[in-house]
Amino acid sequence: MPPELRGKRVTVVGLGRSGQAATRLLVRQGAKVTVTDHRPAVDLDGPMALLRDYPVRYCVGGHPEEAFQDAELIVMSPGIAVESVDAIEAAKTRGVPVIGELELAFRFAKAPVAAITGTNGKSTTTALIGGILRQSGRRVFVGGNLGRPLCEAVLEPVEWDWLVAEVSSFQLETIGTFRPRVAVLLNVTPNHLDRYRTMEDYLSAKLRLFENQTEDDTAVVNADDPTVLRETGSVRARRIIFSQRSRPETGVYAEAGAVVATGISASSERMEIIRREELPLPGSHNLENVLAAAAVGLVCGCPPDQIRKAVREFKGLEHRLEPVRKRNGVLYVNDSKATTVVALAKALEAFSEQIVLIAGGRNKGATFDPLRDLVSRRVKTAVLIGEARPILRAAWNGAVHLVDAESLEEAVRLAAQTAASGDVVLLAPACASYDMFRDFEDRGRRFKEIVNGL
Ligand code: ADP
Repeated sequence: MPPELRGKRVTVVGLGRSGQAATRLLVRQGAKVTVTDHRPAVDLDGPMALLRDYPVRYCVGGHPEEAFQDAELIVMSPGIAVESVDAIEAAKTRGVPVIGELELAFRFAKAPVAAITGTNGKSTTTALIGGILRQSGRRVFVGGNLGRPLCEAVLEPVEWDWLVAEVSSFQLETIGTFRPRVAVLLNVTPNHLDRYRTMEDYLSAKLRLFENQTEDDTAVVNADDPTVLRETGSVRARRIIFSQRSRPETGVYAEAGAVVATGISASSERMEIIRREELPLPGSHNLENVLAAAAVGLVCGCPPDQIRKAVREFKGLEHRLEPVRKRNGVLYVNDSKATTVVALAKALEAFSEQIVLIAGGRNKGATFDPLRDLVSRRVKTAVLIGEARPILRAAWNGAVHLVDAESLEEAVRLAAQTAASGDVVLLAPACASYDMFRDFEDRGRRFKEIVNGL
């Protein structure tokens, strides 16, 4: 049963897309909404105009005490940490419940949720699962941390069969009752160590995905990630495993020639889903994503031939190993979303060609030394950009030819000069983008513009 919000004073923190959707949902439920955002009103005219028909009190240009003083519920946008705002910490101490936009949506959602988390591959796997369910004739909302916030699903007058949600560790910090019918954990490697004090904190946020599940639900987990396998050993949900290296009793795995399922539906011992040569996206990481998505498809009752069709037709997402252009025999690839060390490693492993790498940006607390070997084998020149240049240089010095660039334009120009026919110029920064760009999408789009203008 949805909670009664009529007449309640609710404060929404952040007026991005999630905050706007949360505000609309809350107003529709009869709540008295206050919205706060650190940006001043002049920078918020867009979102404020979209909400002009909604009776909302604004406290913007910061998160002042008064925005929270008499709040009975606080709803966070995913980008903002509870600890980063003193007034929210204080309200929490007073006993005011603090939830995220995801939790709010879940409380009103009527359709079952398939939720996907992990350090890398969330968006790709989420999109694949959306494609599989849609191909199988289900009415599916795909969103969450990717694209449309889940509150938008609730606001739309559609009877969804499934809500497929990409979920970040930040969003999981502010759940309460969130209980996915199917929960996917892809992998957990060090990330966001600028926000989490330790790897354990990060891991425990991710594991909250399973905390409200019961035996009626399913957990789909990656057996090739020892941390994931170990930490999900005691989940209450039925556990289904996927693996590239071993053959599980119940799950989906990769044989030399095909992706195969076993034991998921009662009828089948060994069921071939798709041939390996039919897979559209390169790299073992994308095979991982396909295994996970196929497992979810089967759990949701999708026919194997529809799963195969959806996977075959999947085009991949923008900014994830996205081919931009071939010029003078050099392929330019935009992997702007590769903001982690692991994602960079996967990108380097996905090509057999010589790579001219463009990397750098704002470091998220990562160490780059572990990539020394791989970089020295695969990369002929690394062009470094952004704040992380000294750290990258220290980590890779002597392993590969390094050059610095002051801008992305200069980096592309230097890369184009260095690359020979048959090489790949790869933007895979292994860092966040905020030192030079609005976000990874802005960085990827700029890269494509520059490359297309060469
Ligand atoms: P997320 O939403 O978790 O950031 P994406 O699907 O957007 O994941 O991919 C982000 C980056 O990680 C891309 O550079 C992509 O090539 C790489 N990647 C995708 N899937 C995986 C995976 N399963 N393991 C490691 N890296 C991956």
